[in-house]
Amino acid sequence: MSDGGIAERHICIRSESWEEYDAQGIYLCRVCDVCQEEKLSVYRPEILSGYTQADVDEPIEPDGEDYYGEYGGE
Ligand SMILES: [Zn+2]
Repeated sequence: MSDGGIAERHICIRSESWEEYDAQGIYLCRVCDVCQEEKLSVYRPEILSGYTQADVDEPIEPDGEDYYGEYGGE
């Protein structure tokens, strides 16, 4: 019974399912306890959580070479 496609054959029990939205409120799909994990697994985590890995890894360049601590003197 394990063809790896529960999300394709499965129909949620209406009273036990809910609509799943991404972090921006965009409707993704209807899920229930049975299929939630599999259905949401096709979406990238950043869609669900609201940030991307690029945001997390965004390089912060300290500009240490160019900035000598000028205070402006005003
Ligand atoms: Zn379901």
